[in-house]
Amino acid sequence: MPELPEVETVVSELRPLLKNKVIRQVEVRSPKLIAVGPLTLSNVRKSNSVAAKKFAQILKGKKITGVQRRAKLIIIDIAGKFAILVHLKMTGQLIFLEKKQLNKKIKLLNIETFQPITLPSKWTHVIFTFTDGSKLFFNDLRQFGYLKLVKDSEIDQVKELNEFGPEPLKINFAIAKFINILSKRPKMKVKLFLMDPKIIAGIGNIYSDEILFFAKIRPGRIVKTLTKSEEQRLFKAIKEVLKDAVRHNGSSVGDFVRPSGAWGKYGRLHKVYGRAGLKCKVCGSIIKSMKFSGRTGSFCPVCQK
Ligand SMILES: [Zn+2]
Repeated sequence: MPELPEVETVVSELRPLLKNKVIRQVEVRSPKLIAVGPLTLSNVRKSNSVAAKKFAQILKGKKITGVQRRAKLIIIDIAGKFAILVHLKMTGQLIFLEKKQLNKKIKLLNIETFQPITLPSKWTHVIFTFTDGSKLFFNDLRQFGYLKLVKDSEIDQVKELNEFGPEPLKINFAIAKFINILSKRPKMKVKLFLMDPKIIAGIGNIYSDEILFFAKIRPGRIVKTLTKSEEQRLFKAIKEVLKDAVRHNGSSVGDFVRPSGAWGKYGRLHKVYGRAGLKCKVCGSIIKSMKFSGRTGSFCPVCQK
């Protein structure tokens, strides 16, 4: 599942490509992934052809003015006071191809046996065609992702945009604020604390494992047992690991593909995530794993206390 570094990669790569593009046509192949209006369900499970038609009609002829991120949501700003919210959820992908690249073969899954294919594929659910012939494809293997069209004036009513904790990479997310947040959740396991989007935005299974390795703290530790220096290390690790992952364009674990079709390069730098049973890159001990509310957390039993 894409986390903050992957979504940030998508947003920063799409921003210059989509800015000032004018939408010629929107083809919705899977109406159930489309929602219109702030209060609609984030993932409409039943086919909604009325919303899909409205989505395509409103967007036809409109210009894109910018692309931003809030937590794991991608916000595509549209001239005329609209915005498209895109949530990639488990396996969503946004791929942009210039007109002359439309025959490009793309490896959609980071699996050795997967052969590169041209788009659209059977996993392509929405296609935006721009007036210069370039296209933006929304692919989703498991179809948990969605695209929601809202008016700018309705943005404050969008539930999934307002139930997130602070953005960890923002300058105003400072140590005092972090320690205050920790003090409000004394009984939580620290991995689950990091992964709760209502506490801090954008951290999931991959980056909570990596952050805790860098902070030298075991994932099952209870928040109130952390020492002052552990709290400081944890804060520093959140910033450093997420920044480094953004710098490497995220981790291509499973389905994450950048808008160009290239992969993120942070996966090969993982110290513990997905490495249970392998040797720790620092001390050589065998990486262990444990379940935390159904998710697997991996850690080094020697480097992490
Ligand atoms: Zn180790």
